[in-house]
Amino acid sequence: MKPEQVHKLVADLVAIPSVNPLDGPVGNGRGEAEVAAHIEAVLKEAGVEAELREALPGRPNVVARVPGQSDEIVWFDAHLDTVSAEGMAFEPFEAKVENGKLRGRGAADDKASVAAMMAALIAVAEGGGKPPKTVIFTATADEEYQMRGLMSLLEGGMTATTAIVGEPSGLEIVIAHKGVARFRMATSGKAVHSSRPDDGVNAIYRMGKVLTAIDAYAKGGVGRETHPMLGRATLSVGVIRGGEYVNVVPDRCEVEVDRRLAPDEDARRAIADVRDYLTNALQEDVGLKVSAPELTIPGMSISSEHALVQAVAGVVREVTGKAPLSGMQGTTHAGQLMQAGIPAVVFGPGQMGQSHTATEELALEQLEQAAAVYERLMRNGCQ
Ligand SMILES: [Zn+2]
Repeated sequence: MKPEQVHKLVADLVAIPSVNPLDGPVGNGRGEAEVAAHIEAVLKEAGVEAELREALPGRPNVVARVPGQSDEIVWFDAHLDTVSAEGMAFEPFEAKVENGKLRGRGAADDKASVAAMMAALIAVAEGGGKPPKTVIFTATADEEYQMRGLMSLLEGGMTATTAIVGEPSGLEIVIAHKGVARFRMATSGKAVHSSRPDDGVNAIYRMGKVLTAIDAYAKGGVGRETHPMLGRATLSVGVIRGGEYVNVVPDRCEVEVDRRLAPDEDARRAIADVRDYLTNALQEDVGLKVSAPELTIPGMSISSEHALVQAVAGVVREVTGKAPLSGMQGTTHAGQLMQAGIPAVVFGPGQMGQSHTATEELALEQLEQAAAVYERLMRNGCQ
């Protein structure tokens, strides 16, 4: 595929807003349906088998396939949704190109990977002759929130011999990333009129003590081990709620906690460690309740000696002249895939650190190189 054609693929994707609606209504640029239908149409037009499969109401995944010589499957996945485009430094869906860079919401995360995988898939399909292994490409919904697009495919029985997850890795091969567990902590108290505060128990003051302790805990180094690529696990309190009226002593205060997990760390044990620490650190009963995790996304790590890593590194070196292996702090679909027993690496165009920024952009040269890498991996079966 010519570079201009690959550029057009990504520009067209960026021009179709697909902001994750979280659990709100879809439509008006929120939701993945429009961009999914576009991808399905482009692939079918090029003679690639493609279909939509609903992941959530009105929010489909795209599933495409090029049959190979064997039943073994190499799975290429990238996501359809983006984070919000509010507060961006320029018009987010114009897909304007300047100095070899295309800018816009989703330019790097993750429409660059979607476009590069589409280009590779079309090239393989049009080239004729079957690749050694069947190639599946999925463009998935809801990655930026709860990863339910990928989960619905895994729950539906989709599997593979190996997987490549397209995310902006700056053409580095990511072999380890963290996971995350989100949970809540609440303190309770006794509500009374604010004119007689001594008769009540202020749940917000109690939470203040919890927060002082948790701040010290987080600064002291979270988790039991230091990962060679990723360093220590982390903990951050992101939301606090408490009290309803200024003239009432509040009987409840709640915080939401984001605990980043080392690749092999167990979420429930990590949360139990937080609870145990607080139980010891707090000198008094503050009516503390620590919830079970509401959302857990596993981290991942794969050996640098693994055949998949070696195969990807070989191809990346052929195309770019180098093949750095790296770790990533954020989560990706590779964690879920590895948990399902599918060896996976993360590799894609767009610089790490561009994701979710007000000035998100994509170097088009990286897009072309990623498309070339994906095409070669599809043609050699990732081996
Ligand atoms: Zn992403």
